[in-house]
Amino acid sequence: MALTHNLGFPRIGAKRELKFALESYWKGESSLDELKSAGAALRQRHWQAQAGLDLVPVGDFSFYDQVLDMSFTLGNLPERVQGFHGDALDNTFRVARGRSAESHAACCGGVAAGEMTKWFDTNYHYIVPEFTAATEFRLDASRLLAQLAEARAQGVRAKPVIVGPVTYLAIGKAKDGSNRLDLLQRLLPVYAELLETLAAQGVEWVQIDEPILVTELDADWQHAFNTAYHHLKSSRVKLLLATYFGQLAENQYLAANLPVAGLHVDAINGRDDVLPLIGLLPSHKVLSLGVINGRNIWKTDLAAVLDWLEPLAERLGDRLWIAPSCSLLHVPVDLSSEHKLDPELKSWLAFALQKLGELEVLAAALREGRGAVADALAANQADLAARRSSPRVHNPKVQAAVARIDAHLGMRESSYAKRAPKQAERLQLPAYPTTTIGSFPQTAEIRQARAGFKAGRLDAAAYKAAMQAEIARAVREQEALGLDVLVHGEAERNDMVEYFGEQLDGYAFSQFGWVQSYGSRCVKPPILFGDISRPHPMTVEWITYAQSLTAKPMKGMLTGPVTILNWSFVRDDQPRSASCKQLALATREEVLDLEKAGVRVIQIDEAALREGLPLRRAQWKEYLDWAVESFRITANGVRDETQIHTHMCYSEFNDIIESIAGMDADVITIETSRSDMELLDAFENFQYPNEIGPGVYDIHSPNIPTQAHIVQLMRKAAERIPAERLWVNPDCGLKTRQWAEVIPALTNMVAAARALRAAV
Ligand code: GLN
Ligand code: ZN
Repeated sequence: MALTHNLGFPRIGAKRELKFALESYWKGESSLDELKSAGAALRQRHWQAQAGLDLVPVGDFSFYDQVLDMSFTLGNLPERVQGFHGDALDNTFRVARGRSAESHAACCGGVAAGEMTKWFDTNYHYIVPEFTAATEFRLDASRLLAQLAEARAQGVRAKPVIVGPVTYLAIGKAKDGSNRLDLLQRLLPVYAELLETLAAQGVEWVQIDEPILVTELDADWQHAFNTAYHHLKSSRVKLLLATYFGQLAENQYLAANLPVAGLHVDAINGRDDVLPLIGLLPSHKVLSLGVINGRNIWKTDLAAVLDWLEPLAERLGDRLWIAPSCSLLHVPVDLSSEHKLDPELKSWLAFALQKLGELEVLAAALREGRGAVADALAANQADLAARRSSPRVHNPKVQAAVARIDAHLGMRESSYAKRAPKQAERLQLPAYPTTTIGSFPQTAEIRQARAGFKAGRLDAAAYKAAMQAEIARAVREQEALGLDVLVHGEAERNDMVEYFGEQLDGYAFSQFGWVQSYGSRCVKPPILFGDISRPHPMTVEWITYAQSLTAKPMKGMLTGPVTILNWSFVRDDQPRSASCKQLALATREEVLDLEKAGVRVIQIDEAALREGLPLRRAQWKEYLDWAVESFRITANGVRDETQIHTHMCYSEFNDIIESIAGMDADVITIETSRSDMELLDAFENFQYPNEIGPGVYDIHSPNIPTQAHIVQLMRKAAERIPAERLWVNPDCGLKTRQWAEVIPALTNMVAAARALRAAV
């Protein structure tokens, strides 16, 4: 009874072995064979680590992206990469990363990279499947069969994992505006053939991922589920339909009645689904409950899970399976690699391997009674009890400050209309003022100095001198360029979240807590484990130094509370909104200290505000309300004369414009250069009342924008937003660019602003 399984394992490797193997191959420093054997070694190690499970995922490994792999399996590749003669893996990289025309003129020619987007509400990015009305599918099961054979040879109890047909269509994009649901009839025979191929290999269970079921579905998408799974029902394999990342809610009935052998649900985020589902589920079906959080790094409260699970196990008997809530792709691999984490904090955490260990304890308790794992359960209880009462987690002063938050705290003294003239008077800016978003190129010297400081090769004084030299350089360059509002350049920051996390109490950092973001790219989210407070000012010294070098206004530069939250692993013992408000109070103190130090303009970046939106629209308002309130608490304690900027580097504002306006920043800078200013429509239609800096320089591209192009973009902007409320700036920070690109680009930008002013 209570069979155990896993939905997917992180493939990047405990020490990011896959990243290094990929990058060395891409640089031409190792062979394809070496890369492939690095992949095989990781698979083997990961299967061994999962050997205690009853069913182990196969096909979850990918050299780049599991959705792209599925596109290859289904023979759905963009036309521009078809007819490629090399190795299939090279073609995978070609689709994923693109290739420049110059370097491949003689062979395959240039290829545009596939579009990338976030996998549901995670920080993992997949390559978006491309469709047209003419798309045809053709099975290529080679990758899956090879991995299956490899797993079998190692004695793995293999459960192949694939992305399901409805989710596959739903997360793709029709390039010609056609209805991608029209492709379902063409797609299903290929899925049927794939399942038949697996059946012929003696596969019993296949995990077919349909996370789109946790979102709100139109009638035609609901219908597509019925069509799809009725088509596949004659297959000889048993299908475990896997949903995760949220609640099925109104899709419960649909999910329960699809003709498949089993259903997996996320019993962390969708626990409320479980009891109704048990009532709805036909009595022959397996119900797999995702009882270990696959999205976070905290130990599970095993006794609490058992209290809930034991009666269900009683009812379901052999029909109950247990698993993590989703693929473990979203958590780091192994906590035992962490040697610098404080032991107390470490005793509260679980990474992928530890989570599988927890699953085995739960299974043993269900099979043999809690007594059989009494020691493990007791140790788990002791760790959790220590966490619950730890003074490192709970800071009464912070809690009292949060309790004192009232509506007044997030309000500016006066409305924008009243404060704008006071700011104009103080700042004396020209029409179409120019500024940048914060960072300047992170040169090799900067990175060396930072690494040297971290490693103890550079003492604090030498490090400070090195950073001040960089700041001085950035100020000099900006003065020479003739920019109006300057920045210090963020040389001292490795990362816009980590930099603040390191200085706040309540945060910790792992050494190897890497999570794949896309391809070989990983992020190491800081761990927000306790009540947040700011023991000392974080940025004031750097900003005041920068201001001392120039008479022009120097922007104070902060990351906002919502972005810090959304890019961290966040404690699970209180609502996210509570942690966000604590971050807001801490950053508010920084804002007020900057103001006290004479800083006239303060920018609070909220790059990740939009990506925190819940999967279901019905839950958006609640999130946006506390997110906006948190920003307001951070920003709005300043006097009328102090100008607050915010920055967001994305391009969809239509559906959140009211909340953006609710933040009440004096100036918002956004990413627009690639959308030809069309996204300003949202601001125009809403009659957005404050100032806007629509980006006119695509910082993701090495291309230098011309003065004429920038003027043209700003003219388009001025058709939508009154010119007196427009700023001229790049799309985002410049840290990934080189000075040799930045100087000519900003020269053109400043010249464009001057031309626009002359025409006013
Ligand atoms: N101030 C940050 C920078 O310029 C903003 C980065 C971002 O929005 N992602 O680097
Ligand atoms: Zn940005």
